[in-house]
Amino acid sequence: MKKNITVLKGDGIGPEIVNEAIKVLDKVSEKFGHEFVYTDVLIGGCSIDANGVPITDEGIEKCKSSDSVLLGAVGGPKWDSVDPSIRPEKALLRVRKELGLFANLRPTRLFPQLADASPLKASIVENGIDLLIVRELTGGIYFGKRSTAEVDGELVATDEMLYSYHEIERIGRVAFETAMKRNKRIASVDKANVLDSSRLWRKVMHKLSEEYPEVAYTDVLVDNTAMQLIKNPGQFDVIVTENMFGDILSDEASMLTGSIGMMPSASLSDGTLGMYEPIHGSAPDIAGMDVANPLGTILSAAMMLRYSFDMPKEADAIENAVNEVLNAGYRTGDIMKEGMKKVGCKEMGDAVAAVI
Ligand code: NAD
Repeated sequence: MKKNITVLKGDGIGPEIVNEAIKVLDKVSEKFGHEFVYTDVLIGGCSIDANGVPITDEGIEKCKSSDSVLLGAVGGPKWDSVDPSIRPEKALLRVRKELGLFANLRPTRLFPQLADASPLKASIVENGIDLLIVRELTGGIYFGKRSTAEVDGELVATDEMLYSYHEIERIGRVAFETAMKRNKRIASVDKANVLDSSRLWRKVMHKLSEEYPEVAYTDVLVDNTAMQLIKNPGQFDVIVTENMFGDILSDEASMLTGSIGMMPSASLSDGTLGMYEPIHGSAPDIAGMDVANPLGTILSAAMMLRYSFDMPKEADAIENAVNEVLNAGYRTGDIMKEGMKKVGCKEMGDAVAAVI
């Protein structure tokens, strides 16, 4: 199969980690007989330097016309003081909006080999953690009307949290379909004891759950979820939630695995087009040193194969190779412990590619 991939390497460690993911994708194409064609597009600070904007209109068109987008990370101190309208992160919001990426999938998986890296006690994580947060990405309070005005002599600020039936239904469907491919359990997270938007959320989710009788469904309040993620993260399979709750819970969950460098993510549209990226930033403190952990990006490439290209065997090959490389003791600095083999970014990519 031939697939066109737009590659947004970005800033800081972005180019280093994306190069390793491409190395691994090339091995997959060789082994399984596919052709992956890559087109580089500047994004973030490097695009501001070259073009005066964090992504050009042509860059957006390239993303839209490709089969999928692979992103490194954007930003860095050099661009912290640019005009807010052209900040590097603006490009990410624009790509998400223009590509209609409404579903953010963040797997949180603690590889048992890295259990020591988790801040939780061994007794809590010994059975592993393997959960997936499905976060609504283009609605809710981050996209509602906001205002600040003086009322009765003091400043009052308002942020509107709006969800329509169809926005909830489409993210719910992604979650149920994903749960069907996993362990068939969903926790839908809301604050239905207080918020109207959550009561509508719950109503739509209950209706959807009737269509998926094989999926075990539960409602969990967001405050309880925050607690349960620490107390017993192994109880979760798929968590589906709205934009702001998902933003907060996914960062909480990411810490359970010990290193941000291990965590992949996918942002999906109605069709097969998606954007795949590690959850971390551009790590300017270690950029150019060949020490960044490329596994979050490599695992993001595996998600691209699974979700955009419908290549589950190929995705498994990457995930199994990462597992094997960890078993063999390869560790970048962020996950290093005594007795293991310390490697750099390139060597880690080489090791994963070699296993494939
Ligand atoms: P960061 O995620 O870049 O770094 C936080 C810490 O984690 C740093 O110590 C860094 O060295 C380490 N780290 C991150 N990724 C790593 C990896 N793969 N391997 C080893 N260590 C890793 O967050 P930050 O320092 O707050 O932000 C740096 C820049 O990135 C900022 O300009 C920020 O705006 C931007 N940012 C971009 C994205 C994105 O592109 N999606 C996301 C978050 C932050």
